[in-house]
Amino acid sequence: MEQGNKPWLKFKILKWGLACLGLILSTFLAINYYQNEKQRFKSNLNLKAERAVAKIDSNLRIYETLITQTLAFFVTIKKVDSYYFNSYYQNLKNISRFYGIQGMGFTKYVKKNELKEFLAEARKEFPHYEIWPFSDKDEYFPVLYLQPLVDAIGFDQSSEEKRKQAFKSALKSKDTTISGKINFVQEKDVSYKSPGFLLLRPVYFDQEKKDLSGIIFAPFLYQEFFENIWEDFSDNFYFKVYEGPEAEDKFLIYSNKKSKDKGNEIIINKNIKIYGVDFHIDFYPKDINRNIFQTATLIFLLGLSCTLIVLKILTDTIRRAELSSINETYLKESLRARDEFISLASHELKTPLTSLKLRAQLSARKLKHENIDPKMIKDFATEIVKQVDRLERLVNDILDFSRIRTGNLSLQPQRYNLSSSIDEIINRMSSQFNEINYPSFLKPVTEIYVHWDKLRIEQVMTNLLTNAIKYGKNSPIKIEMEEKKNGDVVISVHDQGMGIDPRFKETIFNRFERAGISPNEISGLGLGLYITYQIVTSHKGKIWVDSELGKGSAFHIKIPKNPRF
Ligand code: ADP
Repeated sequence: MEQGNKPWLKFKILKWGLACLGLILSTFLAINYYQNEKQRFKSNLNLKAERAVAKIDSNLRIYETLITQTLAFFVTIKKVDSYYFNSYYQNLKNISRFYGIQGMGFTKYVKKNELKEFLAEARKEFPHYEIWPFSDKDEYFPVLYLQPLVDAIGFDQSSEEKRKQAFKSALKSKDTTISGKINFVQEKDVSYKSPGFLLLRPVYFDQEKKDLSGIIFAPFLYQEFFENIWEDFSDNFYFKVYEGPEAEDKFLIYSNKKSKDKGNEIIINKNIKIYGVDFHIDFYPKDINRNIFQTATLIFLLGLSCTLIVLKILTDTIRRAELSSINETYLKESLRARDEFISLASHELKTPLTSLKLRAQLSARKLKHENIDPKMIKDFATEIVKQVDRLERLVNDILDFSRIRTGNLSLQPQRYNLSSSIDEIINRMSSQFNEINYPSFLKPVTEIYVHWDKLRIEQVMTNLLTNAIKYGKNSPIKIEMEEKKNGDVVISVHDQGMGIDPRFKETIFNRFERAGISPNEISGLGLGLYITYQIVTSHKGKIWVDSELGKGSAFHIKIPKNPRF
């Protein structure tokens, strides 16, 4: 088996190499896809973010056009009253299109010395017109016209610090400007604060821009203004807008990012300056990672599946090839063993047959000459019985071998006295021993009764004793028998003969194994220990050998007294 595996080792290494390659490739493709897509998404988002910024800018430019148009209206009409202003405002086509614009208004510029005159003039149109909150000042910026009409008429815009600053910069630039964040006062009594900004444009009636009439203003609510911008990008991202160069909570003026969307990382931010005011915008992508991650995982799993399929095909192919190669090796081995067996068996059978034939020829010759010597006849008969015994043993071994191979070695266990049975065997074999090697049998005082197949165990003992004679070089043979506490019985057969080369200590129990001994040296089929091993193991027992080359061997068998068959 081991040897059969070797030629396929390189294919197996190749297979695992391919598997690793597949795994690495799948991981690489998935990571590569993930990174590329993320990069692509980022640049796409960057593009979109730039478009959003451009939209903010262009929307404000449109509003500026509206303011400029209103300026033209004031400069052209010169004597604008609330009626003109209202109908102008009503005629502004599609004003609702400019989402976020809250309306349009005009704040009059009033110096302290013109106050009386201004109030008198204003009260012609609005009988209850008042400047509020009122205090003694050098100049006032009260709201004179406002559409749609909310209760802010008369509100002095310079009374609020932020507006005052915004007005100041508007007057300084003399052009359209944007205020910073302000809170709109919607009603006289209640200050309803909603954050927004104002687009401002001073109105001068002279070319040199010295004669300031007032300031046109358009209020915007941040919420509506940015919502309108966001509509186009709502599929792509959320954003937070800060009025300032950095993302500080106190500068936050708009956010459409819900707290549940918190997990998204900011991947893009932009700073813009509109009419001199800094804005910082953070863009939060929507679901980017999940989609890309899912596809990347899919790519990885696909790669993995392909790898596994290839692996499975390769494994099957190698296994099939391996099997057929093993079968081939096994077949070759079987054929070799068969040939070896035929040659061994014929040699083994030939020896006693030749001997029998010779004896028979000799007998015939002697009988012809009527030269019959009874002693000679007795010797001949003894020799014939010996050779026939040998033939019988050979044939029995071959028969047993065939039974083992076909699984037909059946056991017939019975209860019997073990030491008596061993005594019988020694007796039966007595003619094969001589004075030196006649076995000494060491046994316990108490009898041991076992439940084994008597004939088969006798066969085992006969085999071990025959070997002790064959390979014992006429040395003393000793049989030992003892019962262990756990109920196992150990029988050992010792000789002091040729011993066994350690290399063959395990293999001598294999069929046809002769531990390097040629049949010409000592005859044998190499089946005895194989059959012995099979009988012992089928009794749930063990067999092993202690041996030293040139010093002798001790074969031990250990079998439970009552094995469970
Ligand atoms: P066989 O005796 O027909 O060769 P066995 O299966 O009985 O077959 O023995 C296998 C081999 O084990 C023998 O050929 C011999 O080399 C070795 N062997 C068996 N018994 C002994 C022993 N008592 N001393 C030395 N070698 C032995």
